[in-house]
Amino acid sequence: MDLHSGLAYWIVKNKLYDYFNPLRDDYAVDVAIIGSGITGALVAHELCAAGIPCAVFDKRTIATGSTAASTSQLQYEIDVPLCEMIDDVGERIAVAAYHASLQSISDMEKVFDATRVRPDFKRVPSIFLASNRRGLRLLEREYEIRKKHRLPVDFLNNDALFATHRINGYGALKNNEAAQMDCYKAATGLLKHHLANGGLSLFSHTDVMDYQQTRGGYELLTDAGRRVRCKYMVIAAGFEAGKFLPEQVMDLTSTYALISQPVDPAQLWPERSLIWETAKPYFYMRTTPDNRMMIGGEDVPFRNPERRDRLLRWKIKRLEKQFNAIYPKIQFTTDMAWCGTFSSTKDGLPFIGHWPGRKRMFFALGYGGNGITFSMIAAQVIRNKLMGVKDEREQVFGFERRDL
Ligand SMILES: Cc1cc2nc3c(=O)[nH]c(=O)nc-3n(C[C@H](O)[C@H](O)[C@H](O)COP(=O)(O)OP(=O)(O)OC[C@H]3O[C@@H](n4cnc5c(N)ncnc54)[C@H](O)[C@@H]3O)c2cc1C
Repeated sequence: MDLHSGLAYWIVKNKLYDYFNPLRDDYAVDVAIIGSGITGALVAHELCAAGIPCAVFDKRTIATGSTAASTSQLQYEIDVPLCEMIDDVGERIAVAAYHASLQSISDMEKVFDATRVRPDFKRVPSIFLASNRRGLRLLEREYEIRKKHRLPVDFLNNDALFATHRINGYGALKNNEAAQMDCYKAATGLLKHHLANGGLSLFSHTDVMDYQQTRGGYELLTDAGRRVRCKYMVIAAGFEAGKFLPEQVMDLTSTYALISQPVDPAQLWPERSLIWETAKPYFYMRTTPDNRMMIGGEDVPFRNPERRDRLLRWKIKRLEKQFNAIYPKIQFTTDMAWCGTFSSTKDGLPFIGHWPGRKRMFFALGYGGNGITFSMIAAQVIRNKLMGVKDEREQVFGFERRDL
């Protein structure tokens, strides 16, 4: 299945990571990680940094799944607002999830500092716009609950929104903890770093077709008939993880993204904030270091790649129109457009940890519009689990909550 189509900007900007190393012989490793996207790369990083031998396997060219299509905004805010998530999963879990998400942005920044990988990580404010009066009421509720739980947030009324961001709207929530990056550069950079420094093996074009439990772990079977013996397996296979899951836990969504031609930086909105809104599905926007604007949204339930791709032209028009409604004076001329698929869960939280009863099989499923912050959390939780370190986040993101 195609994970995305159209021209994903990051691959053009960075060029493909030309790495071809299919597994040609049977192999043994402590931890086998399936998937070389940002999740697999961060898991590999955490394990290598902890001195745990691991190997990454990917059926495609490295990091060309959803990671290559991502608009790579890093926000502590999860797709489901905190005030609504509390109704769904309870205050303790919802607040812990928001705090974990906040922490993960700083942790990711530290990973890039430590490895000297430079994926254009940049702190920018996040502006959560009220799309209408109902959205404003939601933001008022959201502001109070975030304040109560000491999450960084400011309230901008319509005057403050216009004064700070030149947007004629109802109001917004603002925080300065968000960031943006180039997710493809991050994933390939981390994998290259650990390949060069030892500790990691990387196999591309190696499809893990099946697995069997053994006395000491698992044996994986690849499309070329090779066997991989491992003590632990980590599934970081994005939305194709379904084939390893005993039960369906996610819904698939098609999503669309555009990038503009570069503009004079003076034309861009103040502070180059990440801007998104309360409407569902939500529209969102960011800028890039080369003064382009990247916008996205228009999500629809995924049926098949053909239908998703057929809608692309129409979605381009709709996204351009939504941008013009917010910033009518900024000229947005589309340079590239693409569509991708991502997974979401009913409560907006990812699934991280082992399936009940399968102690040596870990899932790192960073689902939702904030998939990347969840990837960071997954990498740390799994590393801690392998090192026997207690991690409270397991209860927040684990599979046990699916029946709640
Ligand atoms: C258009 C778009 C915009 C987005 N914007 C944002 C955003 O702004 N912020 C954010 O946080 N998130 C965003 N997301 C979500 C984010 O991109 C994803 O959560 C993230 O990229 C998932 O990374 P991953 O490594 O888990 O999955 P992927 O990048 O899909 O990697 C999974 C890998 O597993 C491999 N694989 C699968 N099955 C097998 C198998 N059986 N054997 C071997 N290999 C296998 C695949 O080939 C693939 O390379 C966006 C997604 C899209 C599509």
